[in-house]
This record gives sequence, C-alpha cells and structure tokens, in this order.
Amino acid sequence: MRPIKRCLHPVDKAGNPKIVSDYKDWRLDLIHCFGAYCAYCNDTLAYELNVEHQVAQSSREVNPLAWDNLLLSCGPCNWAKNDANFTLESHYFPDIIDVKRNKQLI
Ligand SMILES: [Zn+2]
Repeated sequence: MRPIKRCLHPVDKAGNPKIVSDYKDWRLDLIHCFGAYCAYCNDTLAYELNVEHQVAQSSREVNPLAWDNLLLSCGPCNWAKNDANFTLESHYFPDIIDVKRNKQLI
C-alpha cells in the first residue's frame, strides 16, 4: 500500500466547489487526484475501477457524496470490504497512514 495524498475538493469552471448528484461522478476527479490505482492493493485500475467509500455508504456518519470519504479501489478490494466500516484500529488508511514509514500523514 502506497501512501496517497488527498487533493483539494475539486472546483467547477467558475471556481466554486464542485457538486455531484452521484458519488460515481467523482471518478475522473479521483483518477486525476490519485492516479488509476487501487488505494488498498496498489493494483492498476485499467478497466475495473470502483469509487470506494472509506466510511460505508450505509453509515449515517458521512454524506455518501462527500469528496473526503472517497478513494479508488479494484473490485476485489471493494467487494472484500463490502459495506463494513474500517477503523484506524482495524485497517490502514492509505491517506492517513504511510505504511512504509509507519507514520501518520495527517
Ligand atoms: Zn485492490
């Protein structure tokens, strides 16, 4: 797992924070931000590219459209996680923990 750095919230052509009606509409922005890699296994995402909710969609804690909660993942990683919530105690978050250096990024 490589560390990833989150980009600022994307903006529209007028420079206002971009608004989407479907979380999948963030796909191209996520590719632009992170590259076409699975955030968990680092596999390249040539065609099967899932927009992944770090905090599960079923959770009422986070807006399912929230940019800050989304990553890209391959199908197997996304399916393995399913609708479960990861916690900092149970999993590494590539945007929070640099596994190679065992260091918190934010
Ligand atoms: Zn993966």
